[in-house]
Amino acid sequence: MLVRLTDAWQDILARRAANTETGAYPAPVRQLLGEMAAAGVLMQGNIKFNGALVLQIFGDGPVKLGVVEVQPDLSLRATCTQVGEVAPNASLSQMVNVNNEGRCAITLDPQDRLPGQQPYQGVVPLFGDQGEKLENISEVLEHYMLQSEQLDTVLVLAADDKVAAGLLIQRLPVEGEGNLAGKTDSLMRESVLGKSEDFSRIAILSKSLKRDELLTLDAETILLRLYWEEPLARFEPFIGETGPRFACRCNRERVGRMIRSLGTEEVEGIIAEQGQVEVGCDFCGAQYRFDPVDAAGLFTGLPADLPTNVPGGPVH
Ligand SMILES: [Zn+2]
Repeated sequence: MLVRLTDAWQDILARRAANTETGAYPAPVRQLLGEMAAAGVLMQGNIKFNGALVLQIFGDGPVKLGVVEVQPDLSLRATCTQVGEVAPNASLSQMVNVNNEGRCAITLDPQDRLPGQQPYQGVVPLFGDQGEKLENISEVLEHYMLQSEQLDTVLVLAADDKVAAGLLIQRLPVEGEGNLAGKTDSLMRESVLGKSEDFSRIAILSKSLKRDELLTLDAETILLRLYWEEPLARFEPFIGETGPRFACRCNRERVGRMIRSLGTEEVEGIIAEQGQVEVGCDFCGAQYRFDPVDAAGLFTGLPADLPTNVPGGPVH
């Protein structure tokens, strides 16, 4: 599976650059978030999950949080929270794993989740099998997929200021779900069939793809360059309205709920200081303003634009 985000990625970067408080992402953060965005789309496309796939990195360095959320229709949003300076050539561990406490989480949040039902979450450390700090988010995610799905995976990722791209190669089980690559009998059967050899060869070819090639070449050229000796069956690409695109899911009601969760005292304090409560969406840059009347309405009244029949609506 190959993904090449252009408009969607540039949209995400432009929104960040337009934020006067944060300014544009420094190059290493941009690369990290772009690679996460490409990976998130690949993972959502790969599992076809009926809900949001959320890829998060929790950092203990200057990058505190990176989030990519991809919906089943491949619409996505992404943001990074940075505190302090990121050096122009900072590595992954220098950004998020300075004190060995960085980690990566993959959450699958079902669309029709019942109240109280927890989304599925897998957490992986940013270390390899030998205890070494991983310096590529692709290696972190390969580990995760090998652990969670028991499927050998090769992930090649790259991002710059125009393109976020990725290539995912996964060995499919020979005989359906119950017979995964991690099981011995399956492995034996696969070697008998020569499938392990096939996968190893294709994995090596895939890993030979250079960052520059992934960023600059179209899918056709990449497929030809890597797998020219392999029989290929190509699927119709998802582009335009069916393809990955930026879309934010923030709205005034959710922001209102978030403000209410701060409690009356905190909100009154903000209003006394600033005259209103203003919240900006980190993903799209939208600004939500609640004047003293709006804010009071969150706690006491039932403003017309805040339906009461939704979970988490005003409490009486
Ligand atoms: Zn938003």
